[in-house]
Amino acid sequence: MLTLTDAPARVRLSEPVYRPFEVTVARIRRLGPSFLRFTFTGDDLEHFGTECLDQRIKVVVPVDGMPMCDLFGADGGADWYATWRALPDAERNPLRTYTARAVRPELREVDVDFVCHGDTGPATRWATTAQPGDSLLLVGPNALCDTSAGVGIEWRPGDARTLLLAGDETAVPAISGILGSLDDSATGHVFLEVPYADDIQHVTAPAGVTVTWLPRNDLPHGERLTEAVRHWAAGHPPLHGAFGLYAWLAGEAGTVKALRRFLVREAGVDRSQVAFMGYWRAGRPEN
Ligand SMILES: Cc1cc2nc3c(=O)[nH]c(=O)nc-3n(C[C@H](O)[C@H](O)[C@H](O)COP(=O)(O)OP(=O)(O)OC[C@H]3O[C@@H](n4cnc5c(N)ncnc54)[C@H](O)[C@@H]3O)c2cc1C
Repeated sequence: MLTLTDAPARVRLSEPVYRPFEVTVARIRRLGPSFLRFTFTGDDLEHFGTECLDQRIKVVVPVDGMPMCDLFGADGGADWYATWRALPDAERNPLRTYTARAVRPELREVDVDFVCHGDTGPATRWATTAQPGDSLLLVGPNALCDTSAGVGIEWRPGDARTLLLAGDETAVPAISGILGSLDDSATGHVFLEVPYADDIQHVTAPAGVTVTWLPRNDLPHGERLTEAVRHWAAGHPPLHGAFGLYAWLAGEAGTVKALRRFLVREAGVDRSQVAFMGYWRAGRPEN
């Protein structure tokens, strides 16, 4: 017989693919001048299900003077997005998209790496002032849902034999996760543009995958990344058909769009073999 004390705190009639998780900041580690690694902990994180890779998640960002909104509602968080949208402006915390850098369900921990880009948005503002013990919500894949595997993951190289990954600092967590998943036979090239040389991180990659870090210092955003990809493509003609290339591009939307256009229109890469994601847009907040 089910007693009240046995009953789960939140009852969902069906398990959604993504759902909110209540978390607390356990640790904050500086990875470089532009990166902070947050380790979140929460009782429920044993059900946070992902293979990592470029797994997208949502951070419900705390704002000074505003209580953290309740996304669980009457349905236990099953339709968390409708609940969030229905909130009055003054009670709706900003939602921002991030990558699950590492997940340790057995320890009930999730790591998220935040790029600190000044005081221009709620997420970067929160990240640079947050303290261990702060509470917030993450919205992530629900391991209790049978169909959550692979949802929110764009990395689909199929049986491509050569890989090209290019991204700016916001894509470093995703690319690091992808690199960690590759088997020893993988070959290709990775370009990562970061603000400063001290932002370069140690990443694990198979011997056949070359990782090139591109600190931009005072150069315009995207310039070094674009130049590096163009230079790489010039050394690998032709980039179509039998070559079996899969390209994954992420970062500032304008740069990513231009890189994708270059690969498809000028370098001849099959458009179905290019995954491209605008992770942020210069001059515009996420929503
Ligand atoms: C699938 C996906 C995964 C992502 N993963 C990560 C991740 O793991 N780590 C991470 O740090 N970011 C990640 N991002 C990017 C992140 O969502 C954006 O940078 C987001 O805009 C940050 O929110 P904010 O509140 O700080 O700024 P917003 O309020 O969204 O924007 C405020 C201003 O800051 C500018 N801005 C936003 N981001 C940057 C930036 N990085 N550099 C310079 N200016 C910026 C905007 O153009 C705008 O003018 C990811 C995005 C997507 C779509």
